[in-house]
Amino acid sequence: MEKKITDIFGTLVFDEEVMEERLAKDTFRELQKTIKEGKSLNIKIANAVANAMKDWAVEHGATHYTHWFQPMTGVTAEKHDGFIGTNRNGKVILEFSGKELIKGEPDASSFPSGGLRATFEARGYTAWDPTSYAFIKNGVLCIPTAFCSYSGHALDKKTPLLRSMQAVNKQALRILKLFGNEDVKSVKTTVGPEQEYFLVDKKYYEQRKDLIYTGRTLFGAPSPKGQEMEDHYFGTIKSRVQEFMNELNEELWKLGVLAKTEHNEVAPAQHELAPIFSTTNIATDHNQLTMELIQRIAKKHGTVALLHEKPFEGINGSGKHNNWSLSTDTGVNLLEPGETPYENAQFLIFLCAVIKAADEHQDLLRLSVATAGNDHRLGANEAPPAIISVFLGDELTEVLKAIEEDRAYDSKEKEVMKIGAHVLPKFPKDTTDRNRTSPFAFTGNKFEFRMPGSSSSIAGCNIVLNTVIADELKQFADILEKAPDFSSALHALIQGTIKEHKRIIFNGNGYDDAWVEEAKKRGLLNLRTTPDALPYFVKDENIELFKRHKVFDEEEVRSRYEIMMEEYVKILNIEALTMLDIAQKEILPAVSQYSYDLAQTSTLKTSAEVGSVYEKAMLKDISQLLDEAYLATQHLKDVLTKAPSLDGFEQAAYYYRDEVIPAMDALRAPCDKLEQITSKTAWPFPTYGQLLFGI
Ligand code: ADP
Ligand code: MG
Repeated sequence: MEKKITDIFGTLVFDEEVMEERLAKDTFRELQKTIKEGKSLNIKIANAVANAMKDWAVEHGATHYTHWFQPMTGVTAEKHDGFIGTNRNGKVILEFSGKELIKGEPDASSFPSGGLRATFEARGYTAWDPTSYAFIKNGVLCIPTAFCSYSGHALDKKTPLLRSMQAVNKQALRILKLFGNEDVKSVKTTVGPEQEYFLVDKKYYEQRKDLIYTGRTLFGAPSPKGQEMEDHYFGTIKSRVQEFMNELNEELWKLGVLAKTEHNEVAPAQHELAPIFSTTNIATDHNQLTMELIQRIAKKHGTVALLHEKPFEGINGSGKHNNWSLSTDTGVNLLEPGETPYENAQFLIFLCAVIKAADEHQDLLRLSVATAGNDHRLGANEAPPAIISVFLGDELTEVLKAIEEDRAYDSKEKEVMKIGAHVLPKFPKDTTDRNRTSPFAFTGNKFEFRMPGSSSSIAGCNIVLNTVIADELKQFADILEKAPDFSSALHALIQGTIKEHKRIIFNGNGYDDAWVEEAKKRGLLNLRTTPDALPYFVKDENIELFKRHKVFDEEEVRSRYEIMMEEYVKILNIEALTMLDIAQKEILPAVSQYSYDLAQTSTLKTSAEVGSVYEKAMLKDISQLLDEAYLATQHLKDVLTKAPSLDGFEQAAYYYRDEVIPAMDALRAPCDKLEQITSKTAWPFPTYGQLLFGI
């Protein structure tokens, strides 16, 4: 029997409906008020809510609760506490107090803090974020929380994300007020993240130490068939995958995640899941849950999900398209071109804010997606390039040009495009999204930021998007609020913004080498690697920007910079060590044994007085490559020994990029060549063919 979606949707979520049903009327009203106004909860209400939450959770099979949070690295963290307790008579009871709901104290020492806790306070605490509902996962009541140090520094990704949403809210409301929208009380950013991932057979996965330790293949020659046929796209999803997806959807629905579309991606064995968009904070929590469930449920179906940005060389990587927009509490999408001249003008000012933000803050947008894994996608001639540009589509670009040049949009028309006086021409939506190579594309009524990597939290890029756009809206509001004549000031502002920032608009092919040249001429940044990008985080003007909008203070920026650089080094170090391990313990011994077999066969054949051209030729090629691979292991070892310590994290990051990565490449090359000429039975682990096509 098919379970009806509406019957299971949100059944494991302590949402508004459940609250209303289970809380006394005035408690419920009080809680709703606190949530809406973002105030802190008083303890009486908290006790009532906690009790209702516990009863509900226990009825749904939960035995424990946890403050569920997003540390600065890693996916999510939880420490489970039981509801179990005893009463005065020593009888076992289940309890959960308001105090426990509002505040938790995880053993924070195991989470990276970039020196924040050490400098200020030894411990941190978690605090319930009532804007994101509690839910039950694996028999545990999960309470979405923010994680701060006692001095108030954010130790997580949720706190600055919420702060950045407040910044946008504040500035967008100023603009809306200028347009006379007095009824709008709040503006929220909305996000729909499309999640890509690979599924590989568990029995093959388990034989690949590189996948187990690092999530990507560190060795592997291309299979005879790659993705060139593109026949996988939207292909029939194999039945095992289909069963996996059915279960995944069902579990996500129970958790209130609006999982909607699923299809196979361009690469073989690659898949995608897109939810219906929601408020950024919720979308971020849900994306974390989605990643966790993809991995857990895949295992139940004999497969392993790879969330890494680039699991296979030569095959498309995985990203996470972050569809972003702004929405009012009255239900208006501020990036939707309007019907009237007046709505159009409002749309254009928000559009201009995004364009200006993308141009002025290329560095921040780029570094918000910078990780060792994502370096394999960006700037590697696939997916979006590392250069930030904005795709608007031909029609909208034409409109902006007409405004810029004070002329008519349509050559048949005589009147020039005047902001606030003219209706924008209708552009058919489907023509706006043909270009899949743009890193940041306007797709009709939202921007699609395509650079985020598949394994990252979307908190990072949205913190930056929200902050840089809030800053542009602030600048616009500062000017317009003071303007004696609003209409002409608006026109001048939009025109001026287009003029000054049009260099960021690019509708062409982002993979093309010619674009790299062109972008250089336009003065756009091309930050190819993580250590190229991250240092921009701590530039004075960027620290000031985050401070201005109360998203990060200086210590918070510096600590994150340190953590991200260190993570880059740590990932590469694990990869390098894993390569050495595999080469020394698996590849070199297996190939050496294989060459022994060849040598022996050759000797026997010679003594039997028959030819042995094949064995001799193979033996020669293999021995040469084997020696080359051996020397490469020695070189990699040597390079690793000389690596600077993490105390100098910047120096270490540059060293790993400039010395360790080339040494890793130099080891992989002969090994991949060996794989291609070594007997299938002699090769020590599954090949790309097996991983990607099951053969
Ligand atoms: P694609 O063609 O890239 O697959 P879709 O049209 O399927 O794109 O939508 C991609 C994502 O964009 C979905 O998750 C959808 O919910 C989201 N989306 C749509 N409108 C908005 C919006 N206003 N704000 C944020 N995300 C949105
Ligand atoms: Mg997309």
